Amino acid sequence: MQIGIIGGGPVGSIVGLALKRKGHTVRLFDPTTKKPKMSLALSETTLSLLENIGVHLSAGQDLVEILVNEKGLPGSMLLNAHECGYSRFGRAICSIELDRILTGQVADMVEPMAVTQVRARSTTGNPRIELETGETSEPDLVILADGGRSGLSNSIGMDAQLRSFDRTALLGRIQVETPVSGRAYERFIGTGPLALLPIDSDVYGFVWSLAPRDADALKQATPALLDALYLALPRELGRLELVYDAVKIPLIERWIDQPYRPGIVLLGNGAQTIHPVAGQGLNLALRGVSRLVDALAMGDPDTAVREAFMSWKPNRDLTRLASSSLEALFDRDLLSRKLLTSIGMALGDQSPWLKRKISEAGMGIIS
Ligand SMILES: Cc1cc2nc3c(=O)[nH]c(=O)nc-3n(C[C@H](O)[C@H](O)[C@H](O)COP(=O)(O)OP(=O)(O)OC[C@H]3O[C@@H](n4cnc5c(N)ncnc54)[C@H](O)[C@@H]3O)c2cc1C
Repeated sequence: MQIGIIGGGPVGSIVGLALKRKGHTVRLFDPTTKKPKMSLALSETTLSLLENIGVHLSAGQDLVEILVNEKGLPGSMLLNAHECGYSRFGRAICSIELDRILTGQVADMVEPMAVTQVRARSTTGNPRIELETGETSEPDLVILADGGRSGLSNSIGMDAQLRSFDRTALLGRIQVETPVSGRAYERFIGTGPLALLPIDSDVYGFVWSLAPRDADALKQATPALLDALYLALPRELGRLELVYDAVKIPLIERWIDQPYRPGIVLLGNGAQTIHPVAGQGLNLALRGVSRLVDALAMGDPDTAVREAFMSWKPNRDLTRLASSSLEALFDRDLLSRKLLTSIGMALGDQSPWLKRKISEAGMGIIS
């Protein structure tokens, strides 16, 4: 099959590699080489997909433990991969490392041009794309993996539901004095959830979901940010230093319920952008990629796309719901809520069954 992919972010690159391995002819269009820098938690399911298509990640750190707690209250839940029957939950990696590896592997597919127009399949022919040079192409299937940045999906009548979380993610990297090997943290601070991912032996990436004015204030004053992080993080990490200036990203949810048209399918952030609190955006997108690639081996592209999305729908909807619910629950600075979640975590910590279920949901294994 001839496949045209619009967008060479992680999703476009990975689906391109997976399809090429299955014998399809792939053209991947993306004019941009500058990619966002953030820390990503990649689940075991994602790592298997990457291994299967020849993407081996040596950078980053395995995630073996996740400590979840409410700052200042005693109850906590420690998820341990070995206790749940796994060697690890996944791996934390800097997105730039992932991008570096992917860029090397997709180099022969990429054409550094923007796509300016796209048209669905019609009774008279294949879907059609037009490049900024005026060149046109009519592949058997167009994959739109533009991160929702281009407006092309609107031009074919796929309007996303957009919802602002009224939160800004503050991202950065810290070096700590006494790291705990393989341990990630999900801390619920009054001001918003803070995730800490180990990406090197003593370096952690942080993602802090904050009210926009708090994020602005902390981004502008490094000493204030360091103080706030020090107060927010567990004492076991010791002193900390900022490795580079923090970056902020306004958080929105973008959702298209049926992100396909004849001959065209949307994947990745363009189809669904979810709250990063549970670190699931890319993992979720890649579960969709796996289903699509398998389905394309079996039938005509439109049937394959429809079947892939129908079989993926329960998992896709559940991941959206889980991420939004976590955001709604833990972004509230109410003492009653904090006490309840703290007690809930202390009780949950006693249940190996519950901890396994939570871990498997995070890993993309719903059982
Ligand atoms: C703070 C934060 C933390 C996160 N943490 C995690 C995590 O821990 N784990 C996880 O799984 N996910 C996480 N995510 C989600 C993850 O980052 C995204 O799911 C992922 O980056 C989406 O990739 P994408 O390829 O869909 O889009 P993008 O990375 O936006 O790529 C889209 C590409 O399309 C190109 N493009 C746009 N328009 C055109 C055009 N007209 N023609 C050609 N090319 C075009 C752009 O140049 C770009 O390169 C996080 C997100 C945020 C914001």
